[in-house]
Amino acid sequence: MPSLLQSCQKENELVVNFSGKVLIIGAGSAGMMAAYTFQQYGIDFALIEAGPTFGGRVKKTMTFTDFPLDLGTEWLHDNPKTLDEMINDPNAQGNIEMISYQPESIANWDGSELSYVNVGFQFYREYKFKNTTWHDFFEDFIVPSIASKMVFNEPINTIDYSFGQVTATSSNGTTFTGDKIIITVPAALMKQEVISFTPALPSTTQDRFNAIDVPPGIKVFIKFNTKFYPDICSVDTTVPDDKIYFDGAFKKGANDNLLTLFYVSDNARELTDLSDAEVFTTVMAELDQMFNGQATQNYISHVIQNWSNEPFIQGSYSFSGAGNIPPLLKARFTLLAKLIRMG
Ligand SMILES: Cc1cc2nc3c(=O)[nH]c(=O)nc-3n(C[C@H](O)[C@H](O)[C@H](O)COP(=O)(O)OP(=O)(O)OC[C@H]3O[C@@H](n4cnc5c(N)ncnc54)[C@H](O)[C@@H]3O)c2cc1C
Repeated sequence: MPSLLQSCQKENELVVNFSGKVLIIGAGSAGMMAAYTFQQYGIDFALIEAGPTFGGRVKKTMTFTDFPLDLGTEWLHDNPKTLDEMINDPNAQGNIEMISYQPESIANWDGSELSYVNVGFQFYREYKFKNTTWHDFFEDFIVPSIASKMVFNEPINTIDYSFGQVTATSSNGTTFTGDKIIITVPAALMKQEVISFTPALPSTTQDRFNAIDVPPGIKVFIKFNTKFYPDICSVDTTVPDDKIYFDGAFKKGANDNLLTLFYVSDNARELTDLSDAEVFTTVMAELDQMFNGQATQNYISHVIQNWSNEPFIQGSYSFSGAGNIPPLLKARFTLLAKLIRMG
């Protein structure tokens, strides 16, 4: 068994005295972890997804670079042991090799000058997958045991919890019935009230959704003939760290040279509102300015992932008034609260 999974001991058994069925709306990381946990504890569920596949903001492409590429979630902002905790199965088999993300060349672009900074300490305490992706993690370790209870292409638009049971109906007219419901639909959509509830949600609940800030977000991936850029380069804007170019192939052991733009904040609307062709032209113009025309000279191909244009996502991720809601990995631990709140 590979080292990362050696400590993958099952957490203390919970006493489960619930014998009903749970509907889980949305097969992103939160929905999948909810389903996986129910599967482990023998609780019946149905995982209902609007789109044609699982993952949500966990998405990959295998065809653009010579390594699997995360198009959304990319970093693990935590100790890799967290992955063991998510799997929570001593019999799990597989290989997860992580990169300790410590960029060595770090620059800043202030709009007219590129300045390099020397850091003599560990800048980031984060990790990335080396030869796999976040999507592979779910595909390999989480999805196999829940796949038979996943349903795709069923966007839920009404939920009736008037009586003992909960009924969720999709825009196709398909009806799903359970005893409890967990809704993991992105906050951007809950703010738009894409789901109609009977009885209506308490106004305080809708107010809480409305208080969540979900700014626009985009990633642009550009392949070049050579690496003329630093490992990471922040761009000065009105929001700290909202716009970053980074070496997407950093320590991947790949032949391809990949520069990725990560842009998440209200400022990102300057790109997310554009067509893909306009995004590309705008980004290349900035890169040519930063690197004296080397972007155009070395350009091979590009991919744009505009998260604001994804119909069942429509934004980046949630920021609450109290700061960024920790994404992804809290899914497992907020499960019980969601059950109580939504059920
Ligand atoms: C550009 C970008 C970069 C990021 N980078 C990182 C990172 O490096 N590390 C990190 O930890 N996090 C990162 N995140 C955040 C992370 O991706 C999200 O916090 C996390 O994936 C959210 O998971 P979720 O299950 O809550 O939502 P989602 O992944 O959005 O899943 C929700 C699911 O609900 C489905 N759905 C929507 N409406 C309906 C409906 N009506 N009926 C049924 N299903 C519906 C959607 O199709 C989707 O599959 C990033 C996000 C973005 C956008």
